[in-house]
Amino acid sequence: MRRKYLIIIPLILLVCIAGVLIFLKSRITFYEDSYKRNYTYSGVFDTITADYNGCKYNFESNIVEEKEAKKLVKDFDESRKQIIRSSDKVIQEKINIYVVADDRIVGPVIEDDALFLPRKYLEDYDYRYWIVQLMLKKGQCKESFEEYKNIFNVESAEHPMLFPTKGFSKQQLETLDNTEFFINGNNDYIFKSAGSGFIINSDIIDDSTYEKIIELIQVESITKENLKQLLEDINIDHSMYGGNVDDITYHIENKGGRSYTIIDSDGKIDITLNDLTVRTLEHELMHGFFIDYTDLNKYWIEEGFCEYVAYILYPDNKLVEGISKMSVDDSYEDGDFKRYLQSKNYDDNDIGRMYFDYVVNRLYQGKDVSDYPKLKEKVATNFGPNEQSKYYGLELSYTEAMSFTAYLIDLKGLDGLFDFMSSDKSYEEFFGKSYVELENSWKKSVSE
Ligand SMILES: [Zn+2]
Repeated sequence: MRRKYLIIIPLILLVCIAGVLIFLKSRITFYEDSYKRNYTYSGVFDTITADYNGCKYNFESNIVEEKEAKKLVKDFDESRKQIIRSSDKVIQEKINIYVVADDRIVGPVIEDDALFLPRKYLEDYDYRYWIVQLMLKKGQCKESFEEYKNIFNVESAEHPMLFPTKGFSKQQLETLDNTEFFINGNNDYIFKSAGSGFIINSDIIDDSTYEKIIELIQVESITKENLKQLLEDINIDHSMYGGNVDDITYHIENKGGRSYTIIDSDGKIDITLNDLTVRTLEHELMHGFFIDYTDLNKYWIEEGFCEYVAYILYPDNKLVEGISKMSVDDSYEDGDFKRYLQSKNYDDNDIGRMYFDYVVNRLYQGKDVSDYPKLKEKVATNFGPNEQSKYYGLELSYTEAMSFTAYLIDLKGLDGLFDFMSSDKSYEEFFGKSYVELENSWKKSVSE
């Protein structure tokens, strides 16, 4: 009997010591701390903080209780370990995690500020992987979702979706796959794709806006590729500003009214869009690339050039098709484009663009312009804002400018017009004709 105890007691002791050691190692101890946020939601915040396996976890103390915080720390740590195990791409390093403010946001830190993500993502295994991957790269999400799936070896993972994607085209779904998504502290959603960032406040995004934005992202990357090719073809290796086509920020305000483009002193292109139409995005993108005139004689050339380049860079087949059908359709009679196209189930944005293309077609290709005043009136009636008198024919003036610009391009080539626009030369000096003479011969060319 005694000999048995002699063996059992040390064994029990050993097990107890091992148990205590394991317990101590896995125990997460929190201490009170504070942190200072410099940018979004700036201020100093009280936290409970834990250091665990080389990472620091900060929980805003009035947001997350210790018990839940412990669980989050373990979840993060488990994801982190799995990522490090499954990928040689990831460099293990210390990370700081802040869990802050109501139920919206949980995030790692980018340069003194938090990258915010909805907390609900944490409950999902795949999202957790994704988030930890972001953290390990200091908040920069460099891979596509497909690559993440490979890195994490999670075949069945679905792309993180904000909104339903039912009815999305194949291209839209592909665009989604190549788009990275962030939420910042102002509750802005940030979509990053092909070097461009699209920022939109979450308050103004819903299912249909989401789909529209995905379409804009898709068109933007195609347009940029075509623009690069076009500039290469005419031997131009720079924008007129030196701006970088692969580093553009879009602010989607969608308030209605004017959209505009700003170029900062480093040549960075910053575009504010107040509507979600493809045409506006393309037009403003061109402004980012082509010169801004103070010389009013060239002002409309710039607008026309932006329209022209946008038009040739992204011809929309569906719309081109629609226009050609319309011209041979007997049910189109009274000149009311909007009513006609609505009867064919086009939405308002399509109608705007089709109408525009129709006018371009007639003007630029020298088709019948005998009902020109009527067209002008239709533009204002169908697409102008409420204050019709103020905006009368505004849309058409862009189309006219485009047609005139196209005429000048016919004379001197696209590279020639590019030269003209980037020089101080007058019309006489460059074309050998005055502006008025050129305008008259253009009018003649579209009326024949
Ligand atoms: Zn413009």
